[in-house]
Amino acid sequence: MEINGSTRLVGVIGHPLIYTISPQIHNAAFDALRLNMRYVPMVVEPGGLNRAIGGLDALNFVGVNVTMPHKESVASLLDELDPEAEAIGAVNTIAFSGGKKLGYNTDARGFMSALAEVGFAAQGARVVVIGTGGAARAVIVGLISAGADVVVVNRTKERGERLVETVRDRFLKPRIKVMEFGDESADRVKNAGLVVNATPVGMGDLADQAPISPDLLGPGQLVFDLIYEPSETFLLHRAAQRGAQALGGLSMLIHQAAAAFEIWTGIPAPTAVMTEAAARALNPGQ
Ligand code: NAP
Repeated sequence: MEINGSTRLVGVIGHPLIYTISPQIHNAAFDALRLNMRYVPMVVEPGGLNRAIGGLDALNFVGVNVTMPHKESVASLLDELDPEAEAIGAVNTIAFSGGKKLGYNTDARGFMSALAEVGFAAQGARVVVIGTGGAARAVIVGLISAGADVVVVNRTKERGERLVETVRDRFLKPRIKVMEFGDESADRVKNAGLVVNATPVGMGDLADQAPISPDLLGPGQLVFDLIYEPSETFLLHRAAQRGAQALGGLSMLIHQAAAAFEIWTGIPAPTAVMTEAAARALNPGQ
């Protein structure tokens, strides 16, 4: 679509922003629905966040996504946070609306929609989440809100304990425990209905590694790796070989983007178009 005086802008702010496929995902959705909107990546250094948020508001942006390293620090610059952003302690989507700067976190919704798509019922399910970073926090908030029984396994136990404390403060009697990698966590993995990898182990330099032994996995289990590049991580490959159901991170990425799209436009997101655009962006030669 042509850019003209009526074009409305959204985008993503982060530092660095070397690798993002959000522009392709959102711009394909705008084109498909013939919306006069564009999504642009904007590098914002940590010291420039305050000026950037004021500037985006003044420039009449509809909203922006927020990525590393601003997801936590941006909250104090906003007028209101939705309950999920508050519980997760991080904002990944801002809307400039009615003179206010509103903060949302769509990662938990994205994760839960991806689970629902494969028919996984979280209520009462036994879940192991590996990792305690921002993605793990979103996943845990989604799962606890839906009534799952969660064990958090992390390399650094203290970080896991801090995370569990904040979740305990937010939810009435959340069913959550934290442990380090070891015999007890191996038993929990074997008995879980869902195992989630929320660490970067399986991508980049760690592409040939798995965060837990795939030998613990088998039929009747769903293994959800939040990594979307590669689409099939070493963990997912081995889990599928052992008879478990394997799910990569692309569907969560699409659903969190769809939720941001809907916040900005009020229109249901064309998720099939967004998925196709993401697949093209991830496999440019095909
Ligand atoms: P992060 O904050 O960097 O996550 C760090 C977590 O990974 C910590 O728990 C850390 O353990 C653990 N970790 C890091 N390296 C490790 C290693 N070598 N062995 C064991 N544990 C290790 O990252 P994040 O933002 O939460 O993202 C985590 C993953 O989710 C990334 O792969 C990201 O691409 C993916 N993600 C996907 C989506 C999606 O939409 N699909 C959305 C967000 C994120 P310590 O505490 O011990 O350091």
